Amino acid sequence: MSNPNHRPDLPRCGAHTRAGGTCANPPMTGATRCRMHGGASPRSKAKAKERIQDAEARHAVEIFAARRDIEPGAALLELVQWTAGEVDYCRQQARALDEDDLTWGRGSRKVVTTAAPQWRRNRTSPT
Ligand SMILES: [Zn+2]
Repeated sequence: MSNPNHRPDLPRCGAHTRAGGTCANPPMTGATRCRMHGGASPRSKAKAKERIQDAEARHAVEIFAARRDIEPGAALLELVQWTAGEVDYCRQQARALDEDDLTWGRGSRKVVTTAAPQWRRNRTSPT
């Protein structure tokens, strides 16, 4: 029976081994070589960190900042639909809150500050 952990789709180290073959170990995260073939070296770790940050930045650009050629009406409709989803999410979060968590401080104390405008000085804090 074949090895259930064998994943030909995953990258491999690929370094030349003393036995003459190629290393089949997975490379360290962000690196191109495994721990045994230089993946743990400080230079490799620094380069791996750089690759990971670069990949994260590319991913963020793909998601948030990529310009698309889209018909204006379709763009507005998409925006409205996304916003409706965000509103639903916020409502769901607000419903999950306990009413006692929605207020803080003393409910009966009058808040008076000299720096605040007149309309604010006469206001009391919520109960
Ligand atoms: Zn290796």
